[in-house]
Amino acid sequence: MVRAAFPWPALYHDRRLWHPADPGTPAVPFRRDGQESCSTPDDPGSTPKSGGVRARSESIRSRADELLDRSAALIERSRALRQRIGRPDWPEVAVLNVEDHEPARFLRTRILEGAGYTVKECDSAGDAFEAALGDPSIKLVLLDVGLPDGDGFQLCEQLKAHRADVPVVMITSIYRSATARRQGLDLGADEYLLEPLPGHRLIGTIDRLLMESPPGSKPAIITTDGTGTILALNEPAGRLLNLSVRGAIGRSLLLFVGAERDRVARGLQLAASGQVVQDEMTLVPRERKRFKVEVDLNGSEQSDQSTVEWKIQPL
Ligand code: CA
Repeated sequence: MVRAAFPWPALYHDRRLWHPADPGTPAVPFRRDGQESCSTPDDPGSTPKSGGVRARSESIRSRADELLDRSAALIERSRALRQRIGRPDWPEVAVLNVEDHEPARFLRTRILEGAGYTVKECDSAGDAFEAALGDPSIKLVLLDVGLPDGDGFQLCEQLKAHRADVPVVMITSIYRSATARRQGLDLGADEYLLEPLPGHRLIGTIDRLLMESPPGSKPAIITTDGTGTILALNEPAGRLLNLSVRGAIGRSLLLFVGAERDRVARGLQLAASGQVVQDEMTLVPRERKRFKVEVDLNGSEQSDQSTVEWKIQPL
């Protein structure tokens, strides 16, 4: 006799062969291709192998629970981030981290993720260009200057030509001169940061660039000579110092610096000699409480006089 290849219909017809609720029925082995087996369709506990299935299904369930918890935490983190930067209407906020040096890329990604950002990574200019153009969730590009297939300056220019709305933060540990920074800013970079820099400063810069800024909000800018004498300043800088613009000109900016005055004076000298200097200090305004600020010093030559531009941002 030729045996049917699939014997289940025969078993279903004879409940005695498999029904577990029938106590009087011994497990009857049925033959399939010459092998004996006690396994039946709705009796998962009848063999050790079925126990394995149950364990596996439990582990899948607990893994699914874990994933759900993680995804809820991610959703919450993303919501908090969007609130922090005042953009609750953005469904996704991703930063494109472009860096070919793996440890540096890894570290920046960790810092960004810790602050709630979704991070996408690229290690070449070509990939970064494609990613930035093709992925609308990318709201900012953090861009290393030295890349294997081009430099960050060129890429910055190309990005700005195609997605002018996306801020570009250039970051480098090598190109530290005021000239390099000017080149970056001239090609459209929104910020030019020097490594090493503290994580909170990186996040502060990125948050600020993504924040919906109230119309007319401008950074405080003060221009001094190489010794710190104030030559010019804008209105926001006057408000920070609690001085009128006229009242501030001719004073030494160093007199408004707290305990770090010596360090800031050294930074001023470096900036006057053409280095970019980024630091934090305590600002002591006239008749007001002191507070922490970050400063970004940029030197330049103006009619034979070296001047330094201070961009000051309260922390
Ligand atoms: Ca590099």
